[in-house]
Formats: sequence, C-alpha cells, structure tokens
Amino acid sequence: MKDRYSRQELFSPIGKEGQKKIKDKHVLLVGAGALGTASAEVLVRAGIGKLTIVDRDYVEWSNLQRQQLYDEEDAERKIPKAIAAKERLSKVNSHVEIIPHVIDGTSEKLESLLHDVHLILDATDNFDTRMVLNDLSQKNNIPWIYGACVGSFGMSYTIIPGKTPCLHCLLEHVPVGGMTCDTVGIISPVIQMVVAYQVSEALKILVEDEESLRQTLVSFDLWKNQYTAVKVGKMKKHTCLSCGNYPTYPFLSFENQTKTEVLCGRDTVQIRPPKAVQYDLEKLADQLSHEGEIERNPYLLSFTVESFRIVIFRDGRVFVHGTKDIKEAKTLYYRYLG
Ligand SMILES: [Zn+2]
Repeated sequence: MKDRYSRQELFSPIGKEGQKKIKDKHVLLVGAGALGTASAEVLVRAGIGKLTIVDRDYVEWSNLQRQQLYDEEDAERKIPKAIAAKERLSKVNSHVEIIPHVIDGTSEKLESLLHDVHLILDATDNFDTRMVLNDLSQKNNIPWIYGACVGSFGMSYTIIPGKTPCLHCLLEHVPVGGMTCDTVGIISPVIQMVVAYQVSEALKILVEDEESLRQTLVSFDLWKNQYTAVKVGKMKKHTCLSCGNYPTYPFLSFENQTKTEVLCGRDTVQIRPPKAVQYDLEKLADQLSHEGEIERNPYLLSFTVESFRIVIFRDGRVFVHGTKDIKEAKTLYYRYLG
C-alpha cells in the first residue's frame, strides 16, 4: 500500500508534493471508448482523487479490440460503458472515487457535472461534443485536452482558458473538425499514442506545472511515419465567440444540440426525446414482448424486430440499430415508443 506511488514520486517533477496534488484532483472524462478507457486506466493508477465518466453507449463485441477496460462478459450482457469502466477501475484502484453517468453529453448535462472539476479530458468521437467541451471550458475556466484519432492518424492539443487559443480559434487553420468518424477503422497503437500525449499533459496540469505544458498541436501518422508539432499561440483570435473579448459560447445554445443523429461509423441512429422521459423498463418489456425479442439488464432494454434492434436507455434515449436513415428510425420509434 505504502509503496503504491513510489515510482511516480521518485520522478522529480512530480515528487511527494505532486502526488498529493494528484490525489486532490477531480477529472471529468467525456467518452469511455478507446481513448477514454486508456486514459481512465492511467489516471486511476496514477492515483487521482475523483474521476467522473460520461458515456452514452454500451459495450459491443467490436469494442473489445481496443477498449481496454472491457471484456467478453460486458459485451455479452450489453453493460453500459460507464458502468463497466467503473467496475473494472474500482478493482484497479479502490481509493479513487469513480462516478459513472450513462447519458448523452449535452451541454446542460455536462455543465451540471463541472462542480469541483479541475480538468476535462476529451475522449469523444464527435465534433459536436468537442465544441461543447470547448465552450464549457472557456465559460467555467477549466482546462481541457483535445484528443482524436482515426486510421493510423492521431492528434492532441491542450487548451488553457485565458492563455492558449481554443479549439474554435484553430478551426480555420487545422483539420481538427474532420477527425470525427471511425468509418476507416483504427489501429490501437494510435490510441495509446494519443493517450500518452493527453495524459502526460493531464499530469502536468494536475501537479500544477503549467510551464512544462507542450504548447503545440501535435499530430502524427504511425503508418506513414509522419510527425508534426505546430506552434499555434498566434492563432488566438480576439473575435473568437468562444474565447475572445465578447464570448457568446455558441455551442452551448440549445439550437446547436442535435436531437437525432446517425452515430459515428455505425448503422445506428440515436433519438433523444425533446422532453425528459424516464422509462419503466420492466413495464415496457412487458408491452414489447408481444412484438419481438427482448433482452434486458438494469440499465437498458434491447428489442429486436425485423432486421432492426432498438435499444432503450433509462434516460429516455433510444438507439435504432440497422439503419442510417433518420426517417426510418423515427418511424420505428413512434410505432413502438411514441
Ligand atoms: Zn477561441
């Protein structure tokens, strides 16, 4: 027990002092896929005080190739990722407080989780949520670390409100917006590399060593053997609507929050009801059992009908698997749940 962090404390930029600081910190991790599970494991082993995990999805077989906290049983039982991650992480380090949220990362929900958060870590797979994180970071003065990967290409950048340009400032200059979908697949070493950049920067922030932060946008392609680090300091814009002199935080406005969307690289549409609904999954299972095949766990209900699988979460969200067509997904939604 006593030696648990000895190797990290021997590393002089951290030391015993830094270790205490790490223990006092709370990190909000948005996304518990490939990047999220790898970052979470490193941070929990490093001994942070508190980790809040937000993820909207559940574990599937295609995740096991690279999402390192999950196993076959999680996929078999369709356990929500935030829950499965907490179970595994608690076994790795029982001293870390881990708070899972099986929700969609909308601006209101994420903002409600920011109390006493010292750092936001991006492990999402989509551009919309990243821009929400960017605005929340500026509005609440919390640093965040961008990380993205696709194929053999990865990218990372650290954003300190009031100091560095924000992601919105960089949009016109670098292709940070294009890194959104996993339709071309991914090799797992890229994930480990992005996470290495993200978590190294995270540790510097947690031990309050801002001088050592990288201050470049780093990108690399492990297959093509390319590496670049771009100094972006001069790209900060006074007119930026997220971090400029008169910010409006445009990505936090309700109109910019999509309600129905095709999930990244998958034959799946997510429908989020316009008003908050809490389903009684047991009752719903009874009703739907006459229509098709039902599977259920404490967090969600999966319902198979024709070639579609409809997954209903307690918070009212619905995944329609088997289509990329929003209209078709909505028709099914209204037929069975409307
Ligand atoms: Zn900006």
